[in-house]
Amino acid sequence: MVLTITLNPSLDISYPIEHLKINDVNRCQEVSKTAGGKGLNVTRVLHQMGHPVCATGFLGGNIGRFIADQLTENGIQHDFQSIAGETRNCIAILHDEGAQTEILEGGPVLSECDLVAFEEHLNGLLTDHDIVTISGSLSKGLPQTSYQSLIAQLNKMGKKVILDSSGASLEAVLVSKDKPYAIKPNLTEIEELTGEKLSLDQLAELKTLLMTELFEGIEFIMISLGAEGAFAKVGADYYRVSIPKINVVNPVGSGDSSVAGLAMALEQGKSVEAVLKTAMTLGLLNTMEAKTGYVDAAKFQTYFDLVDVKKV
Ligand code: ADP
Repeated sequence: MVLTITLNPSLDISYPIEHLKINDVNRCQEVSKTAGGKGLNVTRVLHQMGHPVCATGFLGGNIGRFIADQLTENGIQHDFQSIAGETRNCIAILHDEGAQTEILEGGPVLSECDLVAFEEHLNGLLTDHDIVTISGSLSKGLPQTSYQSLIAQLNKMGKKVILDSSGASLEAVLVSKDKPYAIKPNLTEIEELTGEKLSLDQLAELKTLLMTELFEGIEFIMISLGAEGAFAKVGADYYRVSIPKINVVNPVGSGDSSVAGLAMALEQGKSVEAVLKTAMTLGLLNTMEAKTGYVDAAKFQTYFDLVDVKKV
């Protein structure tokens, strides 16, 4: 069973409005409220694929209860650590033919005590999980090294950790001695991390970059490239993964869906090629759906067969 960690989940509220009027009243008839945050997208996709998964992290207040109830109603196993603060709302206003205006709350402020409580909570949870995913931003108030200490704890217990984070919290892990088994940055995140401007025809540069000290000790690095598929380093081998052209409806959550694919195929003990193909397939299936963090499992095999992996 995969365990997903979302330290700063959200209730994702979507308001479809024909035309957004600024400095005026906007009325909305069809509101959707979904348990969100990157790790909960990973969770949902695994659940849709029929892969056993349990979600954990921090939840608090009425919004936290709403999220937990929604997961239960959807038959998704969860076991969150309670906090005193209120879990955040993230609002997306979909308006004016394809425009999306977002209002993202920062979320509750936590303390190091909350992290210690979560680490104890994790100890009780970890018996039947082989793979653990850690996704998204750190909650406010937690030290920048929080992911590092979680990874140290998980490594000690022999778990394989997939980290999908960016910016300072990812960098803090990469420069530490406690490495995750896998990371899945996109090209922009790699550029932010390394200060290099990269383009897709510079795969040789990308290869050299992944040989640098910053990435040492991470077995599985998959750089997702949106419609262009992925570039990966696994052990000492490099792979270029190409995907078919498809009709994209909503690409939000594709990275999370590819993390779900990595987790699922790694836990099933699949070959490197099959792990990469599974990650790509779930990413692209998500882009074909209107809802974020959704895939149609019935289409999996058809698209899996169209993904191409080449050693480079
Ligand atoms: P992130 O959401 O983290 O930025 P990407 O945009 O790279 O991640 O998407 C992850 C994966 O989802 C891609 O590697 C690909 O398999 C799929 N994907 C994303 N965007 C598209 C697209 N426009 N067309 C086809 N597949 C896509």
